[in-house]
Amino acid sequence: MVIPSRQDRHGRFLVPAAVSAYAASSAASPLAPFTIERRDPGPHDVVIDIDHCGICHTDLHLVRNEWGRSRYPMVPGHEIVGRVSALGSEVTSWRVGERVGVGCFVDSCRTCESCRDGEEQFCLEGAVFTYNGIERGTKKPTLGGYSKRIVVDEHYVLRIPEGLGPDAAAPLLCAGITTYSPLKRFGAAPGRRVAVLGLGGLGHMGVKFARALGAEVTVLSHSSRKRADALRMGAHEFVVTEEAGTLAKHAGRFDLVLDTVSAPHAYGPYLELLRRDGTMAVVGIPPQPEPLAANVLVTNRRRLVGSLIGGIRETQEMLDFSARHGLAAEIEGIAIADVNTAYERLARGDVRYRFVIDLATLA
Ligand code: NAP
Ligand code: ZN
Ligand code: ZN
Repeated sequence: MVIPSRQDRHGRFLVPAAVSAYAASSAASPLAPFTIERRDPGPHDVVIDIDHCGICHTDLHLVRNEWGRSRYPMVPGHEIVGRVSALGSEVTSWRVGERVGVGCFVDSCRTCESCRDGEEQFCLEGAVFTYNGIERGTKKPTLGGYSKRIVVDEHYVLRIPEGLGPDAAAPLLCAGITTYSPLKRFGAAPGRRVAVLGLGGLGHMGVKFARALGAEVTVLSHSSRKRADALRMGAHEFVVTEEAGTLAKHAGRFDLVLDTVSAPHAYGPYLELLRRDGTMAVVGIPPQPEPLAANVLVTNRRRLVGSLIGGIRETQEMLDFSARHGLAAEIEGIAIADVNTAYERLARGDVRYRFVIDLATLA
């Protein structure tokens, strides 16, 4: 439902502050109905009524406190698509009713070198993450997209192009940009061999982008179950990593390996797949550290790099690229009441390829 922008005679907004959500109250508790308060919109704020929110594996890591830095109660969700329902008095670039998105962060300092470079995720004062962060002004915890409404500064809102379905577009806000950014930066292009390790939410977008960027694409997956899907998504080849001796056959072959695996795994065997001056870009964040032998890096002058989502400008570029190429996530839509079952399935890798919550199912 679109609520028109309304203000009282003092210029204050008449948007109700209480908002329905789902929250985890501890690392051990399931997500459950919860009422949150959103801040009163300031002059530069956009109020968004949320239609869809993707479930990223990061949500699972954080809800279960697998990285040891979770704050509760936690309302997860950073793959948000909705419609603008109200605007601050100074906002000129958004319209009420417009379809918009919000990704992994909602604020940053705007003045440091990273912010000026459009890499706000690396803000020197710390980007304010969409949930499990602290709002700069109010110092209150940020709460994410498993909720009916969110208030976000206009500079951190994305335009969802016409032609992208709102549910299938939601995962682009994290899974999309997290794979698009390193693929472009580290050279997925015609004549380049790219391997995508792990065909989950991130991995399947990685395959689609790498193919659309013109690369020769191989999927490295731990079982043969996803072979047909991978080829349908655009992969040229599919390799099962758990089959004895298989990886050795592909040694020294790839220009770029994009590692999206959420579970602990050794990096060495995948670095061995790189040719001279090849790059392995890690985006998956397993909870435990992994030792690495220097020998595998010095051989072939290999590079091991990480990458974290992408800035606002590049996220918009990725959304426009997706619309132009007809790319979106393959999703399984769920009602919010099924979110805990979805988490259990995500934990055991039973998802093709992203769960997306329909917030119309939240009363
Ligand atoms: P996902 O949908 O669960 O996909 C992870 C994939 O990893 C699985 O589909 C599976 O692919 C592989 N995998 C999982 N468990 C495995 C195991 N035990 N052994 C071998 N392979 C296994 O997760 P996601 O949402 O894509 O997220 C992936 C990771 O990226 C998470 O750690 C998440 O926190 C992180 N992440 C990072 C960023 C960033 O900016 N760097 C952004 C978003 C997410 P196969 O079945 O094909 O083997
Ligand atoms: Zn994410
Ligand atoms: Zn900054």
